[in-house]
Amino acid sequence: MVRARGLVLLCMMAGTSSPTALQRFEFRQTHMGSEFKLILYTTDEAAARRASDAAFARVAALDQTLSDYDPESELMRLCQRAGGPPVAISDDLFRVLDRSLEMARASDGAFDPTVNPVVRLWRRARRQRKLPDGAALEKARALVNWRDLKLDPVARTARLARAGMKLDLGGIAKGFAADEALAVLKRAGVLSGLAAVAGDITVADPPPGEPGWFVGVAPLDDPNRPPETVLTLRHRSVSTSGDAERFVEIDGRRYSHIVDPRTGLGVVDRASVTVVAADGATADALATAVYVLGVDRGLALVERTERAAARFVHQVDDRIEVRDSRRWADLPVRSIPAVAR
Ligand code: AMP
Ligand code: MG
Repeated sequence: MVRARGLVLLCMMAGTSSPTALQRFEFRQTHMGSEFKLILYTTDEAAARRASDAAFARVAALDQTLSDYDPESELMRLCQRAGGPPVAISDDLFRVLDRSLEMARASDGAFDPTVNPVVRLWRRARRQRKLPDGAALEKARALVNWRDLKLDPVARTARLARAGMKLDLGGIAKGFAADEALAVLKRAGVLSGLAAVAGDITVADPPPGEPGWFVGVAPLDDPNRPPETVLTLRHRSVSTSGDAERFVEIDGRRYSHIVDPRTGLGVVDRASVTVVAADGATADALATAVYVLGVDRGLALVERTERAAARFVHQVDDRIEVRDSRRWADLPVRSIPAVAR
């Protein structure tokens, strides 16, 4: 069974007898610190392997470019030149930074690609179960501001205006990579495909004879319980963000791995947000942004985002409250019995 943090991929109970000779193939590799899964339909195994190898190679190349863990990545080499003149960057890095700034602008900085200094402090705080020291937090917070990341679309350069600034694309890179993996499959002639990594799924054409890919949204209180809602998606992306899996408890408060750039601390809402959008980069970044913004401002952002819909599930006192954006009700949901696989 394919699980992607709060999302479950389902197949039909009726069996997989397809009206064409297409067969289902599934491949898994580790990239971007997570298991990356591809499901695709082709006529033979050799074609499936060729296509998936090419897609994984593309994801590996993106990881090398975008990683903030690898000091040699193009992203980290750009950060080393913070405070200096503009730096010529690759088309891939430019595109992801551009999309990140778009989300930073739209979310009024709730999503911020320059959040790395506080994320680093916060990762240490989570390991030590201790809030960061006030002075260190202030220093890190002062380095976070997406307005100080300058992109020049003509010269294809990027500049970090102040020394010490650092980028983190962890909230968008996986969704972007899922889109790119499917684009590679398409160029290899594979139209029916799915890419899933961590909490992000992008789908192309549905499996043969099906109306879409069945993606279940797991309940917040117990991700292992069968999903209550099963979406039927084609040419869409779905991402989840929240504190369901990665969090830390310090002095009785539960903090997420996602940081509110205004405070420099992990978000304290006990919540999970599922976003459906036109592409993976949008779904991924939007889910992170909506979680930081909280239910009211977050859902307002979803309403303003073209073709996006979201479900925000959060705990209010002892109750679980579910709030949907307006377009959520228009999403196609499963009408036939499906079973987890
Ligand atoms: P996701 O799991 O897609 O919600 O992304 C979480 C990751 O995004 C974290 O592990 C950080 O690398 C990064 N991140 C944390 N807080 C923010 C933020 N406020 N804006 C942008 N990226 C963030
Ligand atoms: Mg995200």
